[in-house]
Amino acid sequence: MTEDQDPAVPDTERRKYDRNLLETGGRLAHRVVEPVPFCWFCDRTAGTRSKEHIFPQWLLRHHDAMDERVHPIRISIPLGGVVASERGERPLRAHFNGEVCSNCNNGWMSALEVAATPILTRDPRHRFISSDDALTLARWFTKTAVNLNVSQPFRLLVDSEARHGLATGIPSGFAVHLFRSERQNGVFDWVQKSPDLVVVPRDQLDGIKRLMELTLVTHIRIGDLVGVVAYAPEPLRPEDIMVRDAVRIYPVSKDAPTWESVPVRKDYLDILTVVEANDAGSTRSGAQIEES
Ligand SMILES: [Zn+2]
Repeated sequence: MTEDQDPAVPDTERRKYDRNLLETGGRLAHRVVEPVPFCWFCDRTAGTRSKEHIFPQWLLRHHDAMDERVHPIRISIPLGGVVASERGERPLRAHFNGEVCSNCNNGWMSALEVAATPILTRDPRHRFISSDDALTLARWFTKTAVNLNVSQPFRLLVDSEARHGLATGIPSGFAVHLFRSERQNGVFDWVQKSPDLVVVPRDQLDGIKRLMELTLVTHIRIGDLVGVVAYAPEPLRPEDIMVRDAVRIYPVSKDAPTWESVPVRKDYLDILTVVEANDAGSTRSGAQIEES
């Protein structure tokens, strides 16, 4: 369920990012509005909270990046793609989401890390990306994108149903693409943004601004590998989001891509995300996702 400006949620229970914006009195873009939960990934309301590292320790150690520092940024499309906000610089090892329960952290998240480790640390990567590897990698990038969305300075765009669904798979609405970046300034980078372009029939222009604001595009770079995680609000489907010059690993296509076919671009931002909403009036359902 995607909610918009829900007056039922008191300002004091909203995310700090929203509260800061509300204080400035400006127009808020469409977003998911809900009180900050005990855990962003399940419906437990009590228990033990833990710190879920956004980039796991094993990956930081593998890349010798425990002390790498980051400037989380967001890009505002209405402002022409400029950097709209920055957060204080911090080392990656201190970069975590503290609103995750220990059941999620030590349960499915930990199992997902174990499954993703050999894929993300394999060197060199070559030949086919097996469907198992594609699913694991896509779910890992999706989990990381959701962790960033709930904890970093950007509007919340992934609703609770999609967040909770990550415990058992990849919920409908997500697409994951891969490309490689030639330029690497440090090991890790990410950005959260709206799609860059939309292609839509003139008679559907009315609702499209809202849909664009509700669509999340996250680029996550680890070394030369960039995962682009897109989350499309209904009635858009993940297949409506085209990431030009990248290989889609989820929803899974019939032909398994090879690592060699993952395109190389100059920079981790250097790719266009286009929404082609030609039948945005139709209803999306999980069943429409092609799975092999
Ligand atoms: Zn939880």
